[in-house]
Amino acid sequence: MLQAGPIAAAGIVLLAAAGCSTSVPDRQPPGIVLITLDTLRADHLGCYGWARARTPHLDDFAGSALRYTNAYSTINTTLASHAAMMTGRHPQELGIPRNSFPLSADITTLAELLSARGYRTAAFVSCSALASDMGLAQGFTVYDEEFTISAADQNQRRAEAATTAALHWLSQNRDESFFLWVHYFDPHFPYDPPPPFDTIHGDGYQGPADGSMAYLEQLWQGKVTPTRADLQRLVDLYDGEIAYLDHHLGPLLDRLESPEMKGRTLVAVTADHGEHLTERRLKFYHGNYVYQPSIRVPLMIRYPVVPPRTGVVSGTVQTLDLFTTLLTATGVAAPSPGSGRDLASPVAELTAFAEASRPWAVEDDFPRGIRTCPRPPWWCSIPGSWWSLRTSDRLSSTTWKKIPWSV
Ligand SMILES: [Zn+2]
Repeated sequence: MLQAGPIAAAGIVLLAAAGCSTSVPDRQPPGIVLITLDTLRADHLGCYGWARARTPHLDDFAGSALRYTNAYSTINTTLASHAAMMTGRHPQELGIPRNSFPLSADITTLAELLSARGYRTAAFVSCSALASDMGLAQGFTVYDEEFTISAADQNQRRAEAATTAALHWLSQNRDESFFLWVHYFDPHFPYDPPPPFDTIHGDGYQGPADGSMAYLEQLWQGKVTPTRADLQRLVDLYDGEIAYLDHHLGPLLDRLESPEMKGRTLVAVTADHGEHLTERRLKFYHGNYVYQPSIRVPLMIRYPVVPPRTGVVSGTVQTLDLFTTLLTATGVAAPSPGSGRDLASPVAELTAFAEASRPWAVEDDFPRGIRTCPRPPWWCSIPGSWWSLRTSDRLSSTTWKKIPWSV
């Protein structure tokens, strides 16, 4: 039963379940579904207030779940952020400063813990940053990494294909206790939503800003000076990618909404990080700086209770908390303290911490002006920036940057 008093004190507004009894309908451990939406900043979803958003499926899901309005990623690159979710540990503890630094086999993952408990485990990932050789396949019986697109950026697959693959697996395993992770990549650049989503916003633009990697690289290198119309076109394409993603996420969310699954399946939807569009002069990028646009993410969790817990949680939470939250939902205690919090419990206020991916490259050939780092251990500083990476269990305040509360 929801405790209206203490939960409300922690920042939860109860919309539907207040005063109602809740129960898990059977004793079988619940199914766990984690859906991660790459590069999706919270404030570009309709349920987070983006008025022109075309995200009906995610908005509907938010209405059937608890929606966390102040959820933060621990780092704004793909592999490191997902690794934190899967282990309950901050990226610097894991020794993962950014993509291409594999998770150590010595680290115990959520999938391993659930697999040991008898769960069927499957992951469907949609970009090469999460390829199986990056270590997150640990504990998954199925790790589907069929990347059907070889883009200039990185290998990936579209939402439609990811949903089809996940639904096929789900149809064969829905009666079991399962852990299903589905990762979608579409909002990540390049911004090239398929028709008709390429013109769903800003139809009629005539100009060079086509959202391609070629154009974005020119932009980042200062080789083009975008007009306001060019910048708006890129935002339109980013929103078009989100609309496309939402459209093809719909069938999966609908399946999870079905009577045989709803009530015995926990469904968590979040993002690994957001995206700077134009804020702080950072154009269409993420990774190097810890500011709200690239670190504040959507987080919605539908807990396996009937009736569902719905409402808004305003307390500060981190995506790292998903590790303990999902584990606890299955009846398993987190293996060690410091692995995040169970978000099903009242959320006390917390100072959230995140780190940027600087130094962007720790390899030896990075451009002059940035100090290269021995490896391992990483212990690097950048003049004018903050202490960055180290492989140590000790967390020092000098290694963290407090998230600023305004853009
Ligand atoms: Zn990402």
